Amino acid sequence: MARRKEKRTESSLYKARTPSLNDVTAQQPPIQNEERPAASKGFMRKDLARVIAEELHRWAQVVVYALPVLSIIITRNWDIINKTYQLWSSPLPPLSRLRGVFEEAPGTRANAAIVVLARNRDAGEVVHTLKTFEPTFNAKYRYPYVFLNDKDWEPQFKQTIADFLSEVRAVNISVNDTLYLRFGKVKEEHWSWPAHVDKTAALKDMRQMADLGVLHANKESYHHMCRFQSGFFFQHELLKDFKWYWRVEPDVDFFCPLHYDPFMFMESHNKTYGFNIVAPEFMATIPSLGKTVKAYMRERNITSIPPTLKLMWNETTDDYSGFHFWSNFEIGSLDWLRSREYGEFFEYLDATGNFFHERWGDAPVHSVAAGLLLRPDELHYFEDIGYRHADRIHCPIVKEKQGVYGPCECDVEELKRRRVQWGIWAYSDRWMNELKKWQRWAKAYQTPVNLEDKRQAALVGQASDPPPVLP
Ligand code: GDP
Ligand code: MN
Repeated sequence: MARRKEKRTESSLYKARTPSLNDVTAQQPPIQNEERPAASKGFMRKDLARVIAEELHRWAQVVVYALPVLSIIITRNWDIINKTYQLWSSPLPPLSRLRGVFEEAPGTRANAAIVVLARNRDAGEVVHTLKTFEPTFNAKYRYPYVFLNDKDWEPQFKQTIADFLSEVRAVNISVNDTLYLRFGKVKEEHWSWPAHVDKTAALKDMRQMADLGVLHANKESYHHMCRFQSGFFFQHELLKDFKWYWRVEPDVDFFCPLHYDPFMFMESHNKTYGFNIVAPEFMATIPSLGKTVKAYMRERNITSIPPTLKLMWNETTDDYSGFHFWSNFEIGSLDWLRSREYGEFFEYLDATGNFFHERWGDAPVHSVAAGLLLRPDELHYFEDIGYRHADRIHCPIVKEKQGVYGPCECDVEELKRRRVQWGIWAYSDRWMNELKKWQRWAKAYQTPVNLEDKRQAALVGQASDPPPVLP
């Protein structure tokens, strides 16, 4: 330090003794270039060269002295530097990077899987989903992904997913790493025309519905998809060892970092079915679903509408109101879907052939099944999971201060304008009345995820037992 100061002083003294070009020109009348004295030009060049040489020399000294110090600092802090580099060069949104999502949460896991039904061409959309699903949740909890497809998976799809996860989590995950990734094909009988359906008649009905403007009515694959999601996905070989699933779709967004494990929450609070957005159904897709539910009740000697179904029942018309959990997001019990009760109900619905003659979606089917078979307190509204699918968004507003989740990366002001209380969507006055029932349900049965859950989650994280090996 002292040496540098000394040099600086020397250099400024030198400058003070040396007249600058301005001084020289100020004292003398202006002269033509060719008349400028040669001695003056020579003096200036020498001066400049000397200054440059001195500067270079000084910087060389700084580098020589600083280099060992720098290398010691870098070596000692290599882990932090490397991690910072990984964080900032990752493809994740900035907030997520800052939150250090690469740390795997220690402790107990639920027996759960993330289920994604997709096509080979959806790789980009699946990566879009993972870009927020990983940092807000699964980069920490590392539940295995089960990808299902009615066609064989192309190597390119698998590689894209494995590469993305490896990059996000800064570990090497190969396409064959079954701890994290599984790719399955749907059985033919779960994705084809059932023998009891008259295909020609159904195709005619599908065309008619399409003419009436029923979305996807004319797309055979969409009908198969809805039937598969309603009655078969949970029977897939790759899911047989799991108890819980989180359904995730290509091209959705998750906005809020979750500071607890929703599967563990479901388990410890005796929940069976978790939802995040509800919507009214286009009744033209399910004209006879309500009647079929009533017929099933008669067959089973169920004499009054069960309390959960009441929440989605139109008492004036004595029919299903169309209120449904938007099933592109679901956190639920596979055991429930695999139960005899659910299976028998699905078979009854399927026997009507109306997954094809009409265009029954898996969302209203799961919803009426929950209505019929579950107690109101077995449902859970995941208010704290900020989420977008297509043009519908749910973003939590009030709870950030409780410290359970957040901060969320959604535009709350914009969403406030578009949502009614506790995130349920309203489309009409009639629908507002439906929603009032659900507000009453929320008051009576919604189990808040509170700080205590978070604290317990943290304690679980510190448990000394090793995490169980996932199936
Ligand atoms: P929407 O949400 O009702 O508009 O329907 P989507 O097109 O998003 O389909 C719902 C889910 O089924 C998504 O996970 C899709 O990836 C998946 N899906 C839809 N059609 C097919 C299909 O023909 N084959 C496969 N393998 N998946 C499909
Ligand atoms: Mn979708």
